[in-house]
Amino acid sequence: MGGTFDPIHHGHLVAASEVANRFDLDEVVFVPTGEPWQKTGRQVSPAEDRYLMTVIATASNPRFSVSRVDIDRGKETYTVDTLRDLQRLHPDADLYFITGADALASILTWHDWSELFELAKFVGVSRPGYELNIDHLEEHLRGGPAEALTVIEIPALAISSSECRRRAAEGRPVWYLVPDGVVQYISKRHLYVPGGNGKVAG
Ligand code: ATP
Ligand code: MG
Repeated sequence: MGGTFDPIHHGHLVAASEVANRFDLDEVVFVPTGEPWQKTGRQVSPAEDRYLMTVIATASNPRFSVSRVDIDRGKETYTVDTLRDLQRLHPDADLYFITGADALASILTWHDWSELFELAKFVGVSRPGYELNIDHLEEHLRGGPAEALTVIEIPALAISSSECRRRAAEGRPVWYLVPDGVVQYISKRHLYVPGGNGKVAG
């Protein structure tokens, strides 16, 4: 599961847990992005902070892990590179890429998108406020394997990292939206507050 994870929140964790259960996955690897080119207009928190929050949030689940491949590649993140790296690291694995309804809608704008479906099966999860519509993709997937893309309904959590950042910037609580350890990390590192480490909210 790729993401900016700025910060990671319970929407991400529920999505991962649901997909792991539905597809009987051995492991979910969370992959925080390096420089996210599609997120122009705001500064993203330092990769190390996003990485550590992701580690903190996933530490208690033995089936969750965090990969540094996108961060260590050191350039802007393309999912095709993420999947190639994961394939190299886990040559025998059957890869699934988990993505929310919003990200799924823009998949055809992703770099080398047609190769993506050769590297992994895609799982689109529902997200409040976004239509889980794959009609525009189906035409492109026709003729390929049926399991190339599956969409599933998951419990609706109307949480976004943007809203968590906004709340932190305004001194409002993020308790229960993100794991407790992440609340404490945000406060310790002064993320999302003007003049803090994580730049201003956006
Ligand atoms: P931002 O508001 O900064 O865009 P975000 O909450 O969308 O943050 P991302 O790191 O951009 O989080 O998302 C990573 C992946 O998780 C994406 O595929 C996104 O669609 C999915 N996702 C994020 N929040 C939810 C949620 N509440 N329910 C389902 N999927 C989600
Ligand atoms: Mg997002």
